Amino acid sequence: MQTDVWNILDSCAFFTQIHPDGNLATVVDIESEIVNRQSKQYYSSLVNKGLKIIEPSKESIELVERKAVETGDYDVLSSVDLKILALGYELKGTIVSDDFAVQNICLHMELEAIGCNGKKIKEIRNWKYKCSACNKIADKKENACSVCGSKDVFRIKVK
Ligand SMILES: [Zn+2]
Repeated sequence: MQTDVWNILDSCAFFTQIHPDGNLATVVDIESEIVNRQSKQYYSSLVNKGLKIIEPSKESIELVERKAVETGDYDVLSSVDLKILALGYELKGTIVSDDFAVQNICLHMELEAIGCNGKKIKEIRNWKYKCSACNKIADKKENACSVCGSKDVFRIKVK
């Protein structure tokens, strides 16, 4: 078993029971996302086998929040997602997640990310915000369009 490589497990790892071996870690709050009995049993068995449950520091979470704002993913992330990312940052680990926003931020932060299907994620997705009233495109999310004041602003994908 490798001693210096960490895999940070998001909820999909417990649902699918597919993830890399090695040092495994997750966050305290993941338990609230694992709802079905089979996943709970799998979670317990991994804890017995040495799955570490670690709470990332407030500083790491704040850093991830800033990165998520930069990529435009902040609005779709749960607090569990943010903690998974913060823990990946602290342990310099590979994040195992099927959540596209989580994967996107991993790329942005140069963290390794794989899906629960084992696929590596390569594409960085950035978002912009388009006003549906005047078509103005903004880099950052604003509560209202800076040109016409419309609140009808939606997220678009850009390369
Ligand atoms: Zn507008």
